Amino acid sequence: MEEIEIIKPDDWHVHFRDGEILKAVVPETTRHFGRGIIMPNLVPPILEGFDAVKYKKKIQRAIPKNDHFLPLMTIYLTENTNKDDVREAYESDQVFAAKLYPAGATTNSDSGVKNIKKIMPVLETMTKIGMPLLIHGEVTDREVDIFDREKVFIDQKLNFICKELPELKITLEHITTKEATVYVSEGNKNLVATITPHHLALNRNSIFFGGIRPHNYCLPILKREVHRKALVKAATSGNTKFFLGTDTAPHFTSDKESECGCAGVFNSTYCIPILAQLFDNENALPRLENFISKHGAKHYNLKINKEKITLIKSSQNLIFKKYLNVNEQKIKIFEPNFLVFWNVTETLI
Ligand SMILES: [Zn+2]
Repeated sequence: MEEIEIIKPDDWHVHFRDGEILKAVVPETTRHFGRGIIMPNLVPPILEGFDAVKYKKKIQRAIPKNDHFLPLMTIYLTENTNKDDVREAYESDQVFAAKLYPAGATTNSDSGVKNIKKIMPVLETMTKIGMPLLIHGEVTDREVDIFDREKVFIDQKLNFICKELPELKITLEHITTKEATVYVSEGNKNLVATITPHHLALNRNSIFFGGIRPHNYCLPILKREVHRKALVKAATSGNTKFFLGTDTAPHFTSDKESECGCAGVFNSTYCIPILAQLFDNENALPRLENFISKHGAKHYNLKINKEKITLIKSSQNLIFKKYLNVNEQKIKIFEPNFLVFWNVTETLI
């Protein structure tokens, strides 16, 4: 049996939703992670510091007693966001970052931004005060092919922001393409990217394997194998610009297996075992800790976690639970298309 001890990881991109789903999914994250950046795309979205504080309290109430987890809150940028409100929310520690969704890009993003120029005063303020900007990097024009939306966003929008505000701390979230890995690697020092476990594990064939697979539908959508390989290369490279953001995004199976199914993969339950196996398969296990526990903290000027977790590899592969039950409903738990022999010891699932 192989065993490694690593610094407790952080998840730099989490959807906890609200209500009964929140209560069910929070412990799935807090079991293994020390901190998480919490996405603001509720209905209605978290627009101000005051809303973020209320939401944070709900999350804290759902954290099991023995878990130590710090939720880092965000606000949702719209074309009406006021720069002074943003400054006040950040400086009073109500929020940690602001999130930019292009209007209509993903689940509950209808109030997002259509014209980046309209939010430039807010972005300038954020640059001055050192507040991080988190970006869902896809254009939403219907004419642009769904598989090209990230690349076009980088060319048309991100490049503009990076050139105008090179000192702004930007996280291009859940990157999915080779072009994104190159753009971020070669970009200015304040530009970083998160990568999800499902984009590391799957390519777009997994959406159509033997039929339509709604549980592998997410946004940005899975891409070709050449892109998946580029993401694996970036994650396992040791480059500090790349780190974990799971984008764990719970939806009830009834909303996924539907005429118009929701986008999102719920992956928090087995995220760390899956990533340990993936890095092991790439002979990159010594760099797992950088990707999941160190690089993100460095970008956000936070200390790395004091706690540690222990991973063990057994000869028997892990048997995945298929669903997380929420009252009468259920949420499908992400399972990759390879066997996983790693698990986290203190909290054997
Ligand atoms: Zn997300």
